[in-house]
Amino acid sequence: VQSIPESLQKLIEEFTRFPGVGRKTAQRLAFHVLKNTREEAESLANAIRAVKEKISHCSQCHNITERDPCEICADPKRDRSVLCVVEDAMDVIAIEKTSEYRGLYHVLGGLLSPLDGVGPDDLNIQGIEDRLEDVKEVILATNPSVEGETTAHYLTKLLKSKNVNVSRLARGIPMGSDVEYIDEATLARALEGRVTV
Ligand SMILES: [Zn+2]
Repeated sequence: VQSIPESLQKLIEEFTRFPGVGRKTAQRLAFHVLKNTREEAESLANAIRAVKEKISHCSQCHNITERDPCEICADPKRDRSVLCVVEDAMDVIAIEKTSEYRGLYHVLGGLLSPLDGVGPDDLNIQGIEDRLEDVKEVILATNPSVEGETTAHYLTKLLKSKNVNVSRLARGIPMGSDVEYIDEATLARALEGRVTV
């Protein structure tokens, strides 16, 4: 076997850490970078550096943003009486694409998973309670997975004692699916047909 130069080997290893990227794909990507011009490769490196330097979390909703508060929280046209609780920032992007929702978000930064040792203190849950003053409805838009259901149950109990309406996305979202991957039409229907819990 012909040995791969060390620096190229390192790049392949970095790519294998990407989700869904196996050894072969990682190798293809690394060779692609190698074939790039110097400018193209630097542009990739700069883009990676820039997301780490510029993006932080909104202090209100915990969504990813380049300024605080984020564009959604800062938008005076958004409906401040509705809060949609999601697992992560990719879910915000998916729901925004439906154009069905005009309220605010709250990004948990994960889901409750007692078996993996992820408890309420590991998520942005306390922050929800601090935002309830003007909120009339909280929509729980966690994935229909075991962790998503566990989280929704926990939040329902917590929020019901706070005098706020709690609703969940309508069924029709297949069990085990991911909010971020559901097609826009299905997600829009699930939002529209949300049920009070
Ligand atoms: Zn925000």
